[in-house]
Amino acid sequence: MFGATQNNELLFNYMKKRSQNKKTITRQSYKYRWFVLTHESLSYYDGNIEKRGNRKGEIFLNSIRGVEEVENLSLDLNNNVFQVVYLESNDCYTLYIVAETKRQRETWIQALRLACKDKHSSFFQKYHPGVWTKSLDKYTCCDQIDRKAPGCELSFIERHDDLPSIGKHSSSSHLGYTPSLTSAENFEKTYIAIYNFKPMAEGDLQLFKGERYEVLDNSLEHWWVAKSKNGKTGYIPSTYVRKLRDLEIYDWYYKDITRQKCEEYLRRDGRDGCFMVRDSTTPRIFYTVSLYANGKPRHYHVKQNDKKFYLSERCYFSTVPELVNYHKHNAAGLETRLHFPPRHGQRTAPTTAGFGHDHWEIDPSELVRGKELGTGCFGTVYEAWWKDNIVAIKLMKTGSMSEHGFIEEAKTMTQLSHPNLVQLYGVVTKQQPLIIITEFMMHGSLWQFLKSKVPRILNETERLIMFCVDVCKGMEYLESRKCIHRDLAARNCLVGQNYVVKVGDFGLARHVIDDEYSSSYGAKFPIKWAAPEVLKYTRFSSKSDVWAFGVLIWEIFSGGQLPFANITNADVVEIICNKDERLKKPIDCPQSVFTQMMNCWARKAEDRPSFKILLSCLHAILEST
Ligand code: ADP
Ligand code: MG
Repeated sequence: MFGATQNNELLFNYMKKRSQNKKTITRQSYKYRWFVLTHESLSYYDGNIEKRGNRKGEIFLNSIRGVEEVENLSLDLNNNVFQVVYLESNDCYTLYIVAETKRQRETWIQALRLACKDKHSSFFQKYHPGVWTKSLDKYTCCDQIDRKAPGCELSFIERHDDLPSIGKHSSSSHLGYTPSLTSAENFEKTYIAIYNFKPMAEGDLQLFKGERYEVLDNSLEHWWVAKSKNGKTGYIPSTYVRKLRDLEIYDWYYKDITRQKCEEYLRRDGRDGCFMVRDSTTPRIFYTVSLYANGKPRHYHVKQNDKKFYLSERCYFSTVPELVNYHKHNAAGLETRLHFPPRHGQRTAPTTAGFGHDHWEIDPSELVRGKELGTGCFGTVYEAWWKDNIVAIKLMKTGSMSEHGFIEEAKTMTQLSHPNLVQLYGVVTKQQPLIIITEFMMHGSLWQFLKSKVPRILNETERLIMFCVDVCKGMEYLESRKCIHRDLAARNCLVGQNYVVKVGDFGLARHVIDDEYSSSYGAKFPIKWAAPEVLKYTRFSSKSDVWAFGVLIWEIFSGGQLPFANITNADVVEIICNKDERLKKPIDCPQSVFTQMMNCWARKAEDRPSFKILLSCLHAILEST
């Protein structure tokens, strides 16, 4: 009666659906449709198993915010009804589907929730067990008269707190407005959560996206003390909240995204009206509205005059959100109205500096080990779970690290936190082997990634420069923290969601005991990435990291080839230190990029640019491609 095919389809069935009445004038009616669930979406067609017919609707899994039963008999006396709550253009809708049997309903609910879990959809905390009924103009369960009113009962995600990785979503956040401030609230201390946060350690405070919190203590960098509106206090990650006036509380704002990445997201979405607002790279222009219309991305500068913002000459606004709101309803000179932010590449919650404040020593019994990801010089890496969080764990080879130094270092390293660093969450040091717990990176090491053939979405050169920019950002942060990497190379960078590259393995090199690694004469010493002063006097600095970064750019543009292939380490030392020769320009590498590599390879450390300067050069190159 219900089946699943081999290919992409998870489940399909004939079921009855109630008309959605998005336009209030249409009548409430029922139609049989052919429903198909895939890894991407739930669609319904007017045909059957032999012939699909036309697709009448599609709901993407990442827009789904709830899958729940509906009380029997509440939907026009039907039984076995379930509901799919989802977002579209910042509005919330509910699709009611009538299954034929109780079992069929159960199967669909299970399958939908599981498929959503894979998409990391976040679910609302509450739902309506009853239905919205037009003739009554209210919900049958709670007498709420607003069709968009948040639910009145806890949703399954709240009822089963143990379900991993489906985030929770505050039920008011989808409305896309910021409720006005009550007079009792202190404007300066009031913040809004821009991501959900689930407490990880004792003393942490749960955050619900879109809700307000009063920050009581912001003296620490990563963990602040905050109070929720019902009076609970605790630690929160400082990067998860923003002040009320901050544009980052809006899901259409992508702060410092590059034009290239922006276009990639808009193209991948492909719907007219898909838009975002981003910081402009043009001098004296603060913001750019990027909009997908008639098959291509377009960019409009938000101009400013007398402290007013405007896109078109006749419409001036005091704030950017007001401007966006206006152009959601009026194109007024734009190619089309602003509709929705891109459905791919949504801002994802940043990693936290450790699992909770001051919580870096992890109890190994809390770790669940998954499949092996790879083996390096110092240990084997596995996918794993710590509570609800997917992580990577590295089981260190016994005796490879000097324990005391390593533990102290790990403590400080959990305090380093940046979108382009692989986050160190914690360590297990009370037993052997030592374990390092880090952020999980879905695409593995950059070196492997460069060697593999992956579907190319962007112009190749732009993509590769963006890899360099990502690494450079992470390194600029380390440089500003006076942290020296000592082993920067493509093999030590990792590629994550949306192909973001992050720098990994920083700071640990210092604690390796293995002489083969730590002595420049050793077999494992990364000679081909080493600056002359490192080769001669083992003198590491941020500037020796800059040298290695030059070699890393070379690796990126030569598709992950080994630098100085077929040349012995001894000859490399001779070539670099005595003959003063350098790696050659990779064939497809633009001259402008090669110039930056050569700058990184200045003989004297003080002649090399800082990461900060390199970053602005790379940005300029990206802008001109
Ligand atoms: P080592 O530094 O000891 O040589 P690596 O850190 O390079 O070991 O890890 C070995 C392999 O494991 C990597 O090439 C990569 O494929 C995989 N790996 C390491 N860390 C992660 C991570 N955080 N997420 C996903 N895969 C990882
Ligand atoms: Mg490594």
